[in-house]
Amino acid sequence: MAALASTRRVPRLACCLSASCSRYQSLQPRIRGQPQTRRLLQIDASPRARVPEFAFAFDIDGVLVRSSDPLPRAHKALSYLQSQRIPFVFLTNGGGKHESERVEELSAKLDVPIATSMFVQSHTPFADMDEFKHKTVMVVGGDADKCRVVAERYGYTTVVTPGDILTAYPTVWPFSNHLLQNYVAFSRPLPAPIDPASPSTSLKIDAVLVFNDPRDWGLDTQIIKDVLLSRNGILGTLSPKNGDPSLPNNGYQQDGQPPLYFSNPDLLWAAKYHLPRLGQGGFRAALEGVWTALTGGAKQNVELQKIVMGKPHQPTYEFAEKRLIAHRREILGQRQEGALAPLKRVYMVGDNPESDILGGNSYRSPHGTDWASILVQTGVYVEGTTPAHVPRKIVGDVWDAVSWAVAQEKWSANP
Ligand SMILES: [Mg+2]
Repeated sequence: MAALASTRRVPRLACCLSASCSRYQSLQPRIRGQPQTRRLLQIDASPRARVPEFAFAFDIDGVLVRSSDPLPRAHKALSYLQSQRIPFVFLTNGGGKHESERVEELSAKLDVPIATSMFVQSHTPFADMDEFKHKTVMVVGGDADKCRVVAERYGYTTVVTPGDILTAYPTVWPFSNHLLQNYVAFSRPLPAPIDPASPSTSLKIDAVLVFNDPRDWGLDTQIIKDVLLSRNGILGTLSPKNGDPSLPNNGYQQDGQPPLYFSNPDLLWAAKYHLPRLGQGGFRAALEGVWTALTGGAKQNVELQKIVMGKPHQPTYEFAEKRLIAHRREILGQRQEGALAPLKRVYMVGDNPESDILGGNSYRSPHGTDWASILVQTGVYVEGTTPAHVPRKIVGDVWDAVSWAVAQEKWSANP
């Protein structure tokens, strides 16, 4: 069965909750007006308070919101956890906007204060890839150049898009010429020309980051293919190693070409149309089809070498666990330096067996933390059917999930 993602155009997060942060400042009137609010921010841990050894990771669409509207008991569930200082993070395959925008939206919808560091969306792990921050990366996907802007906010200093390349060299993909006017509106000059006669000064791509669902599959496929067949990532060149049977992968991607990252594996997702729509995974499948046609594919022992992130893949869960541990230390460990007990269990609450549940079940924590999956019936999963991947527990909604988990943990302040 094809992976069916929940609606992925999700809210975001992004503040540090420091005194200088605008999000924090915006919360101040509420803090003054409501004595409980500071407690809700989960930053007021008492050294004598019992420390929870469990935490939560929540999918968003189909768990906390549906078609942009908050689900009935989402506020209750999150507010309860915050009142108990039980840590949680959000883990979504959505993307396309900076975390700060998503956090603002989600926080407003659910009426719960959220820090940016608690929010992991499909491309959030790109924010930690410091090795490319001062190189030239090509960002693919998303509306206009919104993902370029997100990448720059992550700290990437030189970001090009396929639209920049098309605008500078319309002959690179003549079938998108009718869209040139559209691209001109947001494209930028290239940091270097495409000049195969002078490879040392020509545009060189050091990483390809598919941030979000590509909008112009033809252009994006053409440019990614050009980069992957190039010598050392230099546009306009062609590697002489391509097709060399004496080399691994028949010589493909063996000549210094940049790594190719995908942020989201979802083949399909639930949008407003009554049937599922193709997602970033659909684009990847199309690119792999072209790659197979060009290289011979599996029959020639050639694969498209790439790194796929997002649920259900291990790197995304590792990243989320890292964020969760840091967040937990922030809210519980400030006055318990060195004494914070390790995190024993994380409850992954989701509506999609193919991503949330499969990911939670198959994740192997490097810290030995047990990840327990809980499937809710407020999204993709249809009550009464057999889920493709069996969760630890099936419940009605997110409040049921929290109630069941805290009972499992014998948490004294049961809801
Ligand atoms: Mg979902």
